[in-house]
Amino acid sequence: MEINTYCPECENGIFLDRFPEKGLIHCHQCSKGRWATGTGGLNPDGSLYKCGICGGTEFYRRKDFNTKLGLWIIGLGFGLALIFHTWFLKILIAMAILDFILYWLLPEIGVCYYCESIYRGVPLPSKVVGFDLKIHDEYKFKNKTPVE
Ligand SMILES: [Zn+2]
Ligand SMILES: [Zn+2]
Repeated sequence: MEINTYCPECENGIFLDRFPEKGLIHCHQCSKGRWATGTGGLNPDGSLYKCGICGGTEFYRRKDFNTKLGLWIIGLGFGLALIFHTWFLKILIAMAILDFILYWLLPEIGVCYYCESIYRGVPLPSKVVGFDLKIHDEYKFKNKTPVE
């Protein structure tokens, strides 16, 4: 499992390979860090149940899409299409298909609605579905907090 969160002070990325203990996760960039509830946990079947940073139990799933790689592929495709301009359209179509396949093959990650921590390499329960703006807004604008 890999947890990817960030320092609220300086927005430096913080990477963990397991649920944190209760307390401050030290930030390597500034002297502060991110507070963790330390209540992270899994369901009996090994899927993600509770966020170890904030104790939240609501997650959404999304593709682990690396934007840089995607842009690089698009750039490469466009470059090739310009060089081999007789196949311009064909190359662009092939690249679009390749992009689509890559996207489809990408693993899924779980994102905590409350603290936006990302969970990689841990199965997601079926109740975790795609991003829901309504749930997101409840946390963001209606001050909903995880139930402990
Ligand atoms: Zn920091
Ligand atoms: Zn969380």
